[in-house]
Amino acid sequence: MTKTIIPYLYIIASVLFIFGLKMLGSAKTARRGNLVSAVGMLLAIVAALMTSGLSYRWILVGAIIGSIIGGVAARMVKMTSMPEMVGLFNGFGGAASLLVGWAEYQKGIGTMDSFGFQSVAIYLTVLIGGVTFSGSMIAYGKLSEKITGKPIMFKGQQVINSAILLALLIAGIIFTTNPTGHYLAFIVIVALSVVLGVLSVIPIGGADMPVVIALLNSYSGLAACAAGFVIQNNVLIVSGSLVGASGIILTQIMCKAMNRSLANVLFSGFGSATSASAAGGGYQGEANPISAEDTYYILEAANSVVFVPGYGMAVAQAQHVVRELAELLEENGAEVSFAIHPVAGRMPGHMNVLLAEANVPYEQLTVPDDVNPTMEMVDVAIVIGANDVVNPAARDDEQSPLYGMPVINVDKARTCIVLKRSLNPGFAGVDNPLFFKDNTRMLFGDAKATISALVGEFKE
Ligand code: NDP
Repeated sequence: MTKTIIPYLYIIASVLFIFGLKMLGSAKTARRGNLVSAVGMLLAIVAALMTSGLSYRWILVGAIIGSIIGGVAARMVKMTSMPEMVGLFNGFGGAASLLVGWAEYQKGIGTMDSFGFQSVAIYLTVLIGGVTFSGSMIAYGKLSEKITGKPIMFKGQQVINSAILLALLIAGIIFTTNPTGHYLAFIVIVALSVVLGVLSVIPIGGADMPVVIALLNSYSGLAACAAGFVIQNNVLIVSGSLVGASGIILTQIMCKAMNRSLANVLFSGFGSATSASAAGGGYQGEANPISAEDTYYILEAANSVVFVPGYGMAVAQAQHVVRELAELLEENGAEVSFAIHPVAGRMPGHMNVLLAEANVPYEQLTVPDDVNPTMEMVDVAIVIGANDVVNPAARDDEQSPLYGMPVINVDKARTCIVLKRSLNPGFAGVDNPLFFKDNTRMLFGDAKATISALVGEFKE
């Protein structure tokens, strides 16, 4: 009886995953989408636990330890550290797939055919899982600044990577021709895939980590999908494919947002000493500071205001006071919108999440393509802790490492007010000529304190 129910539960779970994913595509339905997917996952787990011959004792131990670690980590993580946590969890997904492949190999030794489906599936699971695991650990290290965010490059790096790929291919052929007799080839595959993950991510600069995280997310899905073939579990194949496909789509979207190809992101060493020599472009001029009080007078007279949030808003946790200021401006008769750059912050959708948390209406959110053509008509563009995503050098300076990345053209607004603590560059380490433009005013200080002061001025 239970044997008949399991496939049906898997089908229902798969359908829920697909609908959940679809709902995650819009901010309005995302919360429900998350719930729908979670119900799908619950069904999948229940169905998996109904499989006969399981040792529940060890499953329980694993579930308890995993739930405690996951629960504590999710509670304790700061919103600004979310990207590295995603990186870390991707890595664990890869490691889990690798271990599933390894366990199945261990179990099947002596019974596997040469070039059989099982051995090829194990090979792919271990290979992709290993690369995902170590690559994600490096991404985690870079994002959490435990290791340098600068690209680590050395002579002959590409040759070494190609040699490792070749060795992995040869070891794979040896392993799959006779899985039972070639344990050593299997160990070589595990070791080299882990090394390949490290070597593929270290030459990528911190500024490109959003793309890398999205790509590794896709890899973790592919690893899970391959593991699904190893243990012949349909729901794992479906969910792994969904993660693999959505991760690669997100990667494409991120690349497009930066006007870069994936190959350029992976191999150009963006942000390295050579590419960054132009970074300190050394834009000259005098920045014009402004006080909160004077900013209030400008805002008070404005008919249209565009907020452009960035990573600094997340650091300052200023989203709630920003919403309050936006409401006051609306009450004052101004048209208010929020322009969100796809790579603003430190993870895809970072700004959307923060603004949704602060109950900013979805209708007020716009994207660069929609807001840029109208920017010249905007009275005031307020940049809240954003830097790279509003850098006009990306548009005007061919020497800039950011050149070609679409940005929000805040410099074209009648007045641009930049809220940050100093003239320091942003994540990419690239100087920003925006700060020295005639129509730019620098409102120095912590974004939350500054916006609170503006709110105070309006309320007085
Ligand atoms: P940036 O990192 O370019 O700039 C953030 C600015 O915020 C800094 O210049 C900093 O200036 C300011 N800041 C920091 N703390 C505060 C504070 N408390 N109050 C006010 N200002 C503050 O951010 P952007 O959002 O413009 O750009 C995102 C960058 O991150 C891009 O380069 C992107 O490629 C990269 N990235 C994006 C990811 C994503 O998925 N979105 C993931 C990883 C990287 P100061 O120190 O002077 O205050």
